Amino acid sequence: MDEFGLIAKYFAPLAGAGALGLTDDAAILPSRPGHDLIVTTDTVSEGSDFFPYDPPDTIAQKALRVNLSDLAAKGAQPAHYLLNLTLPHAVREDWLAKFTAGLAQDQKEFGVSLLGGDTGAGLLSVTVTAFGFVPPGQMVKRSGARIGDAVYVTGTIGDSGGGLALLKGQGRDLDDASRDYLLWRYRVPQPPVDFAARLRDIAHAALDVSDGLIADLGHIASSSGVRIIVEGERVPLAEQVKALWGADACLRAVTAGDDYQIAFTAPPGLSGPFSQIGRVESGQGVGLTLNGKQIAVAKPGYKHF
Ligand code: ADP
Ligand code: MG
Repeated sequence: MDEFGLIAKYFAPLAGAGALGLTDDAAILPSRPGHDLIVTTDTVSEGSDFFPYDPPDTIAQKALRVNLSDLAAKGAQPAHYLLNLTLPHAVREDWLAKFTAGLAQDQKEFGVSLLGGDTGAGLLSVTVTAFGFVPPGQMVKRSGARIGDAVYVTGTIGDSGGGLALLKGQGRDLDDASRDYLLWRYRVPQPPVDFAARLRDIAHAALDVSDGLIADLGHIASSSGVRIIVEGERVPLAEQVKALWGADACLRAVTAGDDYQIAFTAPPGLSGPFSQIGRVESGQGVGLTLNGKQIAVAKPGYKHF
C-alpha cells in the first residue's frame, strides 16, 4: 500500500472537524472564540523514548500523551493534534492498525481529534503537535513562582524510570505484577488532563515533569528567579518503585524523568489530587533534602546530548 492508501485507510478515520478527511494540503483549525490557543510539540523516537518492539498502540499513546501533559501543565484543555510519522520502510499493516487503534482509544479518552500530518520513511519516530485552549491570559507559565509558595506534584514520581530500569535489566527479582505496572507506566504515560482547570485556578507556575523532577523544577527556579527546595521524603513514590530501588528510591525517582505528571507552585496548605513536596525560597537552583539532610544530586535529570 502506498503512502496515500495508508493515510486513507488508517489515518482518515481519526480525522476531526476541520481536517477535511485528510484529503487537502492543509486543515482548518477550529477556533474557540474567547480563548487563547495553546500549542506544543514533542517527538518520541526509537531508542530514546520507546523500544522498537514496544506494542505499537503504546508507542502511539506515548507520542500523544507526552504532548497532552504539556497542555495540561499550562492549564489548557486539549482539542486537536497533528501527527508527523517516520515509519520504517518495512512497516507492516498490522503494526499500523495497532498504532492507530491506540490513537483512536486516546482520542476518545481525552477528547482530541487528528487534523493532519506528514508521513515519511526512516528510523521510527513520531512527532505530535497538540493544540489546546485556555480562557484568555490564563496559561500557567514557568515564570510565576513566588517566594513562600509550596511546591506540589500530581501522581507518583519515578514509576516510568523504574520501567526503563527494568528494560535495562535491573529488578529481575521483582514480582510479575510490579514489573508489569512499571513497564506500563514507562510505555503509557498518565497525564493529569482533567486537572488542568483546577491548576489554572491555583498555580503560580507549572510544568510537566519529563526530564526528571529535580531538573524540571530547575526550569521553574530559573524562569521565576527563585530557589526551590524539594523535601525528598514527601515525594510520592509507588510501592513498586520502593521495591525496585530500596533505600535509593527517592534519589532515583526524582532524577529519572518520563513521568509526565505536573509540578507546580501555589500557596501552601492546599489539598487535592497532588502532594506537597517542597517550598520556594529566595536564591537560585534546586536543593534536595531527605529528612532534613541536604542530599547532593550529581545528575538531576535525563539529557539527550
Ligand atoms: P503534501 O504532499 O501536501 O505534504 P501529504 O501527501 O503529505 O500532502 O498529505 C496529504 C494529507 O494527508 C494531508 O491532509 C495531511 O495532513 C495528511 N497526512 C499525511 N500524513 C499524515 C499522518 N501521518 N497523520 C495524519 N494525517 C496525515
Ligand atoms: Mg506531506
